[in-house]
Amino acid sequence: LKFNEEQAKRKILYNQMQEAKGNIRVFCRCRPLRKDELLAGHATVVKFDAAKDGELGILTSGSTKKMFRFDRVYTPEDDQDASPMITSVLDGYNVCIFAYGQTGTGKTFTMEGSETNRGVNYRTLEQLFKTAEERKEIFTYSISVSVLEVYNEQIRDLLAASPTSKRLEMRQAPEGVHHISGIVEAKVESIKEVWNVLQAGSSARAVGSNNVNEHSSRSHCILCIMVKAQNLITGESTMSKLWLVDLAGSERLAKTEVQGERLKEAQNINRSLSALGDVISALATKRSHIPYRNSKLTHLLQDSLGGDAKTLMFVQISPSEQDVSETLSSLNFATRVRGVELGPARKQI
Ligand code: ADP
Repeated sequence: LKFNEEQAKRKILYNQMQEAKGNIRVFCRCRPLRKDELLAGHATVVKFDAAKDGELGILTSGSTKKMFRFDRVYTPEDDQDASPMITSVLDGYNVCIFAYGQTGTGKTFTMEGSETNRGVNYRTLEQLFKTAEERKEIFTYSISVSVLEVYNEQIRDLLAASPTSKRLEMRQAPEGVHHISGIVEAKVESIKEVWNVLQAGSSARAVGSNNVNEHSSRSHCILCIMVKAQNLITGESTMSKLWLVDLAGSERLAKTEVQGERLKEAQNINRSLSALGDVISALATKRSHIPYRNSKLTHLLQDSLGGDAKTLMFVQISPSEQDVSETLSSLNFATRVRGVELGPARKQI
C-alpha cells in the first residue's frame, strides 16, 4: 500500500513538474563524419561548445553561427542511453519517441542500434522488463507489441500473416486507450521474445520492395508497446502505450528529380512530417485545435500525443558542410516543434 501511495504522490509531483515544463522534449543528435566524408575533406559545420547547456551552433556562411537550443544535445562521441521516459509508461502514461531527420543521419542507429550498441527501442524494452520485475510484488504487467509501417499514407501491419494495408479504425478499451481494430498485438514475456517479434517485423517490411534501405527511408516504421498494469492490492488496472517511431527521411528532393511514384511518395512524406510538426507545435504552444486528422501518422498516435502523454523527439543531423541546408531545415523543424525559439543568428566571436 505504501508503494501505491508513493506512486500516487510521485505522479502528482511529476504532473506538476511537467505542467511547468511541458510534456515535449527535443534531443538533438549529430553523427560523426563518415570515412568517405573525411577522405573527401568535408568540413564540420556543427559546433558543440555549449552542448552541455543544450545549445549547438551551425556555421551557416563565413563566420555566421546560428544557435539552436534543445533539451539535450548529443555530440558524435556521446553514448546511447535508455530513455528517461520509461517509468512514465509503467506509471500509466502514454509516451511517443520519434527519430526525425535526413536519411543517413542516424535515425535507425538511435532507435534500433546494433547487436553491440543497442538503440532506444531495445534499451527501453529492457528497462521496461527490469522495472516490471522489480515491482512484481505489487503489480502484474502484461506487455504486447505491434509493428506497423506507414507508407504512402497506408498503414501496414507487419506482424499480420499477410501484411496488407489496414483501414484505420480505433476501438476504445475499458482502460481508456484505443486499440487499432484488426492489428496483431503479440504478447511478450521477455526481451528475447520482443527481439524475435522485431525481427519478424523487419523481414515483413522488406517483402515487396526492391531496395530495403530505400523503402525504409521513405516509410515510417512504428513500434507500439501496450502495457497493462494490474495492481494486486487494489485490483485496479491501467493501460498505457509506448510508441517508438523511426520516421521517413525528411530530405527535400529536387523538383526535377521527382516524378511519378517518387513524387507521390515525397508528397506523402512531406505531408505526414509537416502534419506531425503541426500537431506537436500546436500542443507545445497550447493551441485549442490540434490537427490530428491531417495524416495517418498523427491520427494513429492521437491518444498518445497531448493530454498528459509525453513526447520525445530526437532530431538527427549530419556534421558535414555538404548537408548544411538539410541540417538547418531539420533544426528549424525541431525548434518549431519544441515551441521555444532562440533569438536571431549570432555572429561568431
Ligand atoms: P538513417 O536511419 O537516418 O538513414 P542510419 O541510422 O542508417 O541513418 O545511419 C547512417 C550511418 O551513420 C550508419 O552507418 C550508422 O552506423 C552511422 N551513425 C549514425 N549515427 C552514429 C553515431 N552517433 N555514431 C557512430 N555512427 C553513427
